[in-house]
Amino acid sequence: MATIKYSMKTLPMKIVVVIGARPQFIKAAVVSRALREHCADACEVLIHTGQHFDANMSEVFFDELEIPRPDYHLGIGGGTHGQNTGRMIEAIETVLLAERPDWVLVYGDTDSTLAGALAAVKLNVPIAHVEAGLRSFNRHMPEEINRILTDHAANLLFTPTATAVLNLRAEGIADERIRPVGDVMYDASRYYAMKAEQGSVILDRLHLTHGGYVLATVHRAGNTDDPERLDAIMRGLMLAARERPVVLPLHPRTRAALLRADLFQQVAHTLLLCDPLGYLDMVMLEKHAAVIASDSGGVQKEAFFHRVPCAVLREETEWVELVESHAAVLAGTTPQAIYEAIVWGLDASDLGMALFFGSGDAGPKIAEILCGV
Ligand code: UDP
Repeated sequence: MATIKYSMKTLPMKIVVVIGARPQFIKAAVVSRALREHCADACEVLIHTGQHFDANMSEVFFDELEIPRPDYHLGIGGGTHGQNTGRMIEAIETVLLAERPDWVLVYGDTDSTLAGALAAVKLNVPIAHVEAGLRSFNRHMPEEINRILTDHAANLLFTPTATAVLNLRAEGIADERIRPVGDVMYDASRYYAMKAEQGSVILDRLHLTHGGYVLATVHRAGNTDDPERLDAIMRGLMLAARERPVVLPLHPRTRAALLRADLFQQVAHTLLLCDPLGYLDMVMLEKHAAVIASDSGGVQKEAFFHRVPCAVLREETEWVELVESHAAVLAGTTPQAIYEAIVWGLDASDLGMALFFGSGDAGPKIAEILCGV
């Protein structure tokens, strides 16, 4: 059976990074920059699984966030969860056997995360998981299974919040594997907010002004794949559009689901639809929104980082701190509840800013721990 033995290894430290989906590009940009700045000797080898492949879901992030070009592009996507994960494991294993890395670094909770972890653990390659310990306690979400399995396979678990640490302890994961570093997306928000102000013209392009609109995103499979639920969410957003224009950058999965459900025309008539945005445009829209309504984990947090109230378009969230501190409300997915949550947000003020997500230096901390600096 193939495993990798390290007795003959010499410097430099080699880290194979497995990414494939939009939020992973953003997280990886933070750590990659920190590795270049803090661990000059480290060699990063990037695998892009191909999970997200459209130019506006992938390419634009490599350009804007200055992520090194992938060393390996696996081109795997479009299949079922099982097909994608299986093909990824096989392809990642081949890369690991050739590269013999010191670490495999995985991010978040997608099929690419799980595939990277499973390929590595079976070769005895140490795994580091960024954004470890999150739990929605909803095992119907594919992401929840990916998180649990990846955390239990990983040697180093970089946690974004105190709740994440508690979740891992409750599952019996030893403290020596847990590293509470804070959230790399907080680093990203701080670093790119200024660049967005300088570089983005999205407000002018969409004829929007500060505080004059609601920003919405919807892409979770649980929301898009059930036509009734999708219909209810869109009705909630359309009700809110009576109060303020609602901007909805459309994830490809959501666009396809709206077309399938024959809802696209009606929604396009009432909401301000656009293609998925690059990160700088997205940050700009988040910063200046009156309210954000989203089922995205990343967007919920970014709302908090920019002190914008958030209506969470789900029944539960992994980011419980946001709800407990009243920076966000769980709106669920009925039209009236979504409308009321957005109206709550329009009136909310003085959200405060607790340090639930660390101090904005998670990237350097991760780089230093990985490189043993
Ligand atoms: N995002 C973006 N453009 C968009 C929508 C989202 O750049 O049109 C960014 C967003 O700012 C956040 C990340 O993508 O940083 C969140 O990704 P997504 O919602 O796909 O995944 P999740 O966070 O739910 O895993």
